[in-house]
Amino acid sequence: MDKIINADKYIGRFAPSPTGPVHFGTLLAAVGSYLQAKKNNGDWIIRMEDVDITRKVDGSDLEILHTLEAFGFEWQGEVLYQSKQTECYRYALEQLIEQSLVFPCICSRKQLVESGSGIYPGTCRTRSLQEKSDHALRLLAEDITIEFDDLVMGRRSQNMASQCGDFVIKRRDGLFAYQLAVVVDDQLQDITEVVRGADLLDSTPRQIYLQQLLGYSTPGYCHLPLAVDAAGNKISKSEGAARVDIKNRESLLRHVLDFLGQKPPADLCDADISEIWKWATEHWDIDLVSAANKIPLHT
Ligand code: GLU
Repeated sequence: MDKIINADKYIGRFAPSPTGPVHFGTLLAAVGSYLQAKKNNGDWIIRMEDVDITRKVDGSDLEILHTLEAFGFEWQGEVLYQSKQTECYRYALEQLIEQSLVFPCICSRKQLVESGSGIYPGTCRTRSLQEKSDHALRLLAEDITIEFDDLVMGRRSQNMASQCGDFVIKRRDGLFAYQLAVVVDDQLQDITEVVRGADLLDSTPRQIYLQQLLGYSTPGYCHLPLAVDAAGNKISKSEGAARVDIKNRESLLRHVLDFLGQKPPADLCDADISEIWKWATEHWDIDLVSAANKIPLHT
């Protein structure tokens, strides 16, 4: 497979799912990944994670890009759409099948819930890939412990067999699962560090496991604290969070910087967006982004 971008420097990415407009949580991931890339003299690219076409909201990809533009983000290269990457995902799936690590799963959601622990009980492990009924494809979770050092969240580890279990890499409806798609794209785009929200921290061991099986390199990981509302719930698109209003872009950007522990000075209150970016790129310090930093946010 040809690599899409070839570089031996820092390459970061922002990978929104086009399921709605930009809200504060999306902005947080965009700003954190952007400033970390700038600080490392790197490239920052955008990937539209529309692999799950069932959740896609028409036009939201362009709306996200327009919002980013209005905030003054600058990205390198073309935006990559996961919906155009199916062949690459299929190729990776073949590699996993060749290692005899993939099996068809016909378990219903109800059966899985009834099985209790949340870890897949291995019910379909002995089924053959010739299975005729509708099925998902699961990856066998071996007794391997994945460890990594997250730049913000510290050292993490997870045993694939006992703490994760066999997981879906191709869904029953034929779509490739996020876990496989993201790993393939991070490799193809030469991503050197993944900066994203802490809601994906739990996915990281699965992604590293896949990278190891596929012979890919493992980028660095940096999970940003999640923005939560006054009730302590994550602010996300699916919960109908308010879209960011670009009329307030200066105060929103200052708020994000504050949330990320960067302590923007009071005299930035009257600054325009380019002055705030200038201050932010010069002063960005990932060490200030503390995992404990969970300022309730009132939107
Ligand atoms: N597409 C995911 C989201 O919008 C982010 C995935 C990632 O950064 O790995 O939440």
